[in-house]
Amino acid sequence: MKLSLIIPVYNEEEVIDLLLRRAVDVLSGITENFEIICVDDGSSDRTFEKLVGFHSHERRLKIISFSRNFGHQAAYTAGLDHSSGDYVVMMDGDLQDPPELIPSLLEKAVEGGYDIVHARRTGRNDGFFKNLLFETFHFLFKKLSGMEEARNVGNFSLMNRRALVALLSFREKSRYLPGLRFFIGFRQGFVDYERDARAKGEAKMRLSALYRLAMDAIFSFSELPIRLCFFTGIAGMLICFFAFIYVLVSKFTGIAPFGWSSTTLSIYFMGFIQLIFLGILGEYVFRTYHESQNRPVYLIREIIE
Ligand code: UDP
Ligand code: MG
Repeated sequence: MKLSLIIPVYNEEEVIDLLLRRAVDVLSGITENFEIICVDDGSSDRTFEKLVGFHSHERRLKIISFSRNFGHQAAYTAGLDHSSGDYVVMMDGDLQDPPELIPSLLEKAVEGGYDIVHARRTGRNDGFFKNLLFETFHFLFKKLSGMEEARNVGNFSLMNRRALVALLSFREKSRYLPGLRFFIGFRQGFVDYERDARAKGEAKMRLSALYRLAMDAIFSFSELPIRLCFFTGIAGMLICFFAFIYVLVSKFTGIAPFGWSSTTLSIYFMGFIQLIFLGILGEYVFRTYHESQNRPVYLIREIIE
């Protein structure tokens, strides 16, 4: 049995050595037949040099270096594409996901007969504001996508080759791998863990990147936004129907002619409704365009094995 560990890294020079040492320790405890694939997502610090340094005495480390920063979902994809293990683990490179959990993930998969085992966070240590954002996203995503179990599950997970082959058959450009991993089905299990704070350095995903990822997740797994146009249209029609009766009654009872306020109000109303839905439509148009461009998800500058 061969085990592959996929780690995306972006400007993680401060954690790299500790990360790889801990990972090698844990994996050696399971089997000597493993590979660690570090995907350097266009780092601008000494991450790549550190990886090469580690590679000089640990040949089971594979380094994939991108031509520029493509984002961590692209980095995971590249790692998965190049992995050869019977079991594959996805893990963040900032030690928020403890490598020491990998044996439990594997045990659960082997003994429970699961194809995919998700590490599920019972707690987060990202600070109040970020925790709140993550909670809100997970709540919305769960409701909108109908994937009830997806709550508190991120990238950290283990899957066997047949699940991986299924996952990799999806070549969409706006990818949210944790969502896709649920979407493909198979037998899925969970192992709970407490998420640590980042070992060193700052979070590499800026809020804008997290926002983009959240929008990708919601728009690729829910039809609700586009359906909202229709439902709002129906609701608007009902309101207009009653307003129409009111206007007719006022006209025939001679209370008041159409006033300034109702005119302005309706202009505002139409204005904001149209803007909101142009925005939603824009999301789909943009995504369709993005997919039809069919650009590669990532570009590799160098592979070191
Ligand atoms: N990462 C990456 N490319 C990026 C941003 C982040 O490969 O553009 C890596 C990063 O090095 C880390 C993982 O993805 O290993 C998760 O990033 P981070 O800890 O910043 O995200 P968060 O914990 O806030 O979700
Ligand atoms: Mg992190």
